[in-house]
Amino acid sequence: MTPLDRHQRAALQFSGGKDSLALVYLLRPQWSRLTLYHVDAGDLLPEVREIVDMVEAMVPHFRRIETNSAKWMAEVGLPSDLVPTSSTPAGLSIGASQQRIVDRLDCCAVNIMLPMHYRMIEDGVPLVIRGTKRADLARLPAESGDTSLGYELWLPLQEWSHDEVFEYLRSVDAPICRVYEHRVNAPECATCPAWWSEGRAGYLKKHHPALFELYRAKLAAVAAEVTPHWNTLQGEL
Ligand code: SF4
Repeated sequence: MTPLDRHQRAALQFSGGKDSLALVYLLRPQWSRLTLYHVDAGDLLPEVREIVDMVEAMVPHFRRIETNSAKWMAEVGLPSDLVPTSSTPAGLSIGASQQRIVDRLDCCAVNIMLPMHYRMIEDGVPLVIRGTKRADLARLPAESGDTSLGYELWLPLQEWSHDEVFEYLRSVDAPICRVYEHRVNAPECATCPAWWSEGRAGYLKKHHPALFELYRAKLAAVAAEVTPHWNTLQGEL
């Protein structure tokens, strides 16, 4: 008995990463009752986009939700892991900086998570299936079975490890994206100037030199805002 047995239909949130890809294969017998939803913020790695396109062609029901993270960044600001107060709206209003920097979590919420959530509500989806694992985060914001968002959440891989996901993908001959030779998680946006721990510089430089230059330019703009504060802090220490 799974949560899917209690519902006529469900949404599978598909990012193109390894975990949601494992779900696509794991739930193959249920495809006719599933709609896959994918948020495309306009900056997917080409090799991840290939997997998204492949899955779209495989399954009966697939919806793309398109957002534009580059446009949002140009209008609102560059996402970063560190946000200097001089680059907030208050800082800009007193002339402390010309460049707005935004919290990366806000950028991801606006460009990826909220468009997906609102679409679930709009489409009246009773059950949402995600590939989130306990191993991905220090604390899960919502566990499997949560209903507080207006739909039931099912996380079939909640207790899986990264290795178990890769092992499963190999066992069903699913494609494993080249990016996983580099890191255990694939980036949501290839040239995002935040999520520094993804360590994209070496990978982009090797495989996508043009994307690397774009990434580096955005990083340099963020560094120009963050570094003076960091140097001052170190000096005080
Ligand atoms: S990955 Fe970066 S650019 Fe993409 S939505 Fe998240 S913070 Fe914004």
